[in-house]
Amino acid sequence: MRIGMGYDVHQLVEGRELWLGGIKIEHSLGLLGHSDADVLIHAICDALLGAANMRDIGYHFPDTSADTLDIDSKILLRKVIELIATKGYRVGNIDATVCAQRPKINPHIPAMKACLAKVMGIDEDDISIKATTTERLGFVGKEEGMSAYAVALIQKIR
Ligand SMILES: [Zn+2]
Repeated sequence: MRIGMGYDVHQLVEGRELWLGGIKIEHSLGLLGHSDADVLIHAICDALLGAANMRDIGYHFPDTSADTLDIDSKILLRKVIELIATKGYRVGNIDATVCAQRPKINPHIPAMKACLAKVMGIDEDDISIKATTTERLGFVGKEEGMSAYAVALIQKIR
């Protein structure tokens, strides 16, 4: 078994859709990025890659590549699962936290868990997603951006 951690940040801007945990959430602001800017998926990808000692999401999917422009981050997550499988690893479990002042994330967590479990081919019980505000402090609290943290355990299957 091996463990990895991931962290990601994206800026919140007007005129972008908000994609978080693989689902679209209605909100007045969206996350800015080269891909769909799904900050939660990106943190999970980095946790999985880190656990397998396979660099990070930017190394495998550069934000200068036309192939990843506006890409659905679920595709990147699926590719990360395939990447760690090349070293003989599968997901054990994942625990993640989204930091966002608004909108309320908690009502969307069951849908995020169902979506991401399906993408990764794991049980919903093996992915935990939590949400917190930062009590209006810092860039998250001032709604300038969102951040996400993830920890992943992977298991060698061959
Ligand atoms: Zn990102």
